[in-house]
Amino acid sequence: SLQGKTAVITGSNSGIGLGVAWEMARAGADVVLNSFTDREEDHALAAEIANETGVQARYIKADMSKGEECRELIEQAGACDILINNAGIQFVAPIDEFPVEKWDAIIAINLNSAFHTTAAALPKMRAAGWGRVINIASAHGLTASPFKSAYIAAKHGVVGMTKTVALETAQEPITANAICPGYVLTPLVEAQIPNTMKEYNMDREQVIREVMLQRQPSKEFATVEQLGGTCVFLSSPAADQITGTTISVDGGWTAL
Ligand code: NAD
Repeated sequence: SLQGKTAVITGSNSGIGLGVAWEMARAGADVVLNSFTDREEDHALAAEIANETGVQARYIKADMSKGEECRELIEQAGACDILINNAGIQFVAPIDEFPVEKWDAIIAINLNSAFHTTAAALPKMRAAGWGRVINIASAHGLTASPFKSAYIAAKHGVVGMTKTVALETAQEPITANAICPGYVLTPLVEAQIPNTMKEYNMDREQVIREVMLQRQPSKEFATVEQLGGTCVFLSSPAADQITGTTISVDGGWTAL
């Protein structure tokens, strides 16, 4: 059980982050949810997790595109035994048409935020004598596809940074790993269907089967519960010697 541990999950009012928060709470960890909004429904998500699982759950607003707010999130969380860097956005366009502000936002949210939160969290893990850094990268942290230059640059960056954090903590009871999901049907994936339909001149079903799941040999989306389960495993004693590596949850994508 993860009782007594606090997990901070960035970008967790939706999709994978929210699913991971639920699984960590079901495994007994107190959880801190986050996004850049501060709505009643954001706080209600934390209350629902606390009610259903009995753990302590809080929602803290912080914009992961801003370094100071990333660090502030970790400070406000108090304890941060398990840091799950999950906040991420996507934008699809050929590189010569890629909007500069989208490039900057993707690098800031998908890559730089993990630098800032990790820098702020490691001293807390060291003081606690135990810690886990889990970065939600992507199959696109290991392979590429057209039209996703910023995302792929950011995710490869996350995988590289994960290895360095693992080396810097190698002789401490702290591990750092990246999870590389294939396609998971979340709002982020839902949102890229229209642009991908345009890029490939396809309908929705064709985009799902022929573009998205084309490289996912299982022909099934991974689920947020499976990603949460992978985070729980990486937080367990069985994973004490797993560090500086990637775990693919991609239906065979990277075996191709
Ligand atoms: P999602 O859009 O459902 O969730 C993204 C989360 O990030 C949301 O909670 C959103 O509020 C938050 N977020 C966005 N901008 C933020 C900001 N500036 N500050 C704080 N929070 C912010 O998407 P998802 O599919 O659940 O993606 C979660 C992570 O998983 C991302 O890093 C994504 O790249 C990665 N991933 C997703 C898939 C997939 O198929 N869905 C595959 C591989 C990797």
